[in-house]
Amino acid sequence: MITLQKTTSTFNFSPGPGALPLVVLEETRQALERLPNVPLSILGIGHRSPWFDEILNEAESNLRSLLNIPTSYKILFLQGGSSLQFSMVPMNLLRGSNRTADYIVSGYWSAKSVPDAQREGNVRIAWDGSADGFMRLPNRSELNLTPDAAYLHYISNETVEGLQFNSIPGLPNIPLVCDMSSDFLSRPFDINRYALVYAHAQKNLGPSGVTVVILHEDLLANIPDNLHTMLDYRPHVLKRSNYNTPPVFSIYVMMLVTRWMLREIASLDEMHDLNKQKAERLYQSIDESEGFYRGRAAIQNRSLMNVVFNMASPQLEAEFAQEAQANGIFGLAGHRTLGGLRASLYNAVTLEAVDALCRFMYRFHRRHR
Ligand code: PMP
Repeated sequence: MITLQKTTSTFNFSPGPGALPLVVLEETRQALERLPNVPLSILGIGHRSPWFDEILNEAESNLRSLLNIPTSYKILFLQGGSSLQFSMVPMNLLRGSNRTADYIVSGYWSAKSVPDAQREGNVRIAWDGSADGFMRLPNRSELNLTPDAAYLHYISNETVEGLQFNSIPGLPNIPLVCDMSSDFLSRPFDINRYALVYAHAQKNLGPSGVTVVILHEDLLANIPDNLHTMLDYRPHVLKRSNYNTPPVFSIYVMMLVTRWMLREIASLDEMHDLNKQKAERLYQSIDESEGFYRGRAAIQNRSLMNVVFNMASPQLEAEFAQEAQANGIFGLAGHRTLGGLRASLYNAVTLEAVDALCRFMYRFHRRHR
């Protein structure tokens, strides 16, 4: 079993930007002064320099190795976060076509992705979980799909509600677009099932400022010609993510994180096993508390990345989060729209951190019985 490095001297369960491996933070600190083998800081190298070229190349090739991405898929490093992909996806894949795009609305973030798509063309909501407050994900049979849809869009892990798909929804012949922002690189997936996948860096990949977009090259042929340059995938593909000044620092740290992963694990299966172990321990602490802690998501849809739970009152939850912080355990407040508590178990969060949280939960429960 791998032992990933402790993340920081405190335990960070922040939903994002999230914990990064301590060794990467140390390498980053050094690179702020001076890059290895380059007499300059990472903050002061040109984006057209051969040094940055190497960083871009390694970031891309690390991702290709970790995810077995064939050359028929392009990898882009863009700005604007995943929110900009809510616009770029329908602009590039829906605008001007008379087809429909299907959207699964399974939580706060997928609900946010819909209005921007509606500006670009016909959108059909394939499933909407808002009526019951996004407590669960749809079964395959509940999806209302358009057989010749331009694409089906879904979010593999709903960060706010802590709901994660365990299988790929949709039909084999409908191009699939997935926002993997909060579970990218936490488990393996078959890129060949997707037309396009995007994920911002600030969960499992690095600091905010860069978003990874992986798209099949066939998509490029049908992009409309009236898009603004920065919102069109093609210039970014043509210039290999260096059309304008890219987020050099964020890409550098992302490269370090992917290098760290290649060093630490034999495959993403290993990362997945570790993430399962972390989540199981925490859900077990919740389930064994006889209702003192209550998991929010339907058990079959529980996320390995974001463990969302409640206590008897918002006052008790606030006290819990505050006391946790005083004990070196950070980032447990739930999303501002939902309240409650949320522990995010991204790749850099260690088993040791989860055990510390479980022990704290046990002690807190005993004192409030
Ligand atoms: N999608 C998901 C699943 C998210 O969790 C978030 C933010 N946490 C977003 C999209 C929005 O990302 P950004 O802030 O990078 O625009």
